Amino acid sequence: MIDIRNLTKRYGSTAVLKDCSTHVAKGEVVVVCGPSGSGKSTLIKCVNALEPFEAGTIMVDGISVGDPATDLPSLRARVGMVFQNFELFPHLKIIENLTLAPEKVLGRSPDFARRKGLDLLDRVGLAAHARKYPGQLSGGQQQRVAIARALAMDPLAMLFDEPTSALDPEMISEVLDVMTALARDGMTMMCVTHEMGFARRVAHRVIFIDGGTIAEDRPAAEFFGDTASPRAKSFLSRIL
Ligand code: ADP
Ligand code: MG
Repeated sequence: MIDIRNLTKRYGSTAVLKDCSTHVAKGEVVVVCGPSGSGKSTLIKCVNALEPFEAGTIMVDGISVGDPATDLPSLRARVGMVFQNFELFPHLKIIENLTLAPEKVLGRSPDFARRKGLDLLDRVGLAAHARKYPGQLSGGQQQRVAIARALAMDPLAMLFDEPTSALDPEMISEVLDVMTALARDGMTMMCVTHEMGFARRVAHRVIFIDGGTIAEDRPAAEFFGDTASPRAKSFLSRIL
């Protein structure tokens, strides 16, 4: 579903991603971890064409992200993105947050978009909050709305960038539970997170980025086992 080959991305003269190659198969869950500033967010942004890149190729469902001929808005519409800070539309009700893009971008009827939106809110446990505004919800609830909003676009894959790192500890598990259910339903997912319990339980593979290079890319059981590299072990010992 996502195929990244020899990706190099620079900000000015500094390469922040260097010759990175990896892939995410349909239905696969890949967790991306690594120290702050190592390039995790940049990698995710390149996949969703939010940042241009200098070398290499990224294919999403067979479509080349770097090809100038590619219709990037329609590609982005098919890849769900969930950020650290929710980024809901504060002036729109929860249900309107879920129906806006399906109506405007996908041309869905208001009635269809609304029924689907309510279904999705039900799925993340928030059906009772449809008519509230984002500011009336807790951080954990807002992040679950953000996930439901991304799902309203019928994404081919979901990208998460530290979706729980702005949340109070007691709200982290409610968001991870939604992500776990999504993974179990077969969603293709690339998740930047330091929630190693989630990674251990849910991820098929773990990618460890260090200084802009992919230092490890292996099955989760291996990553958390005795065979992890010293660098990865040292990182894990600091965050666990
Ligand atoms: P991570 O998500 O792993 O913490 P980032 O992908 O955000 O790391 O950043 C990787 C590197 O790129 C860092 O050194 C950061 O300072 C730099 N960087 C990120 N965004 C920009 C930007 N818009 N302009 C210049 N440098 C940036
Ligand atoms: Mg980041």
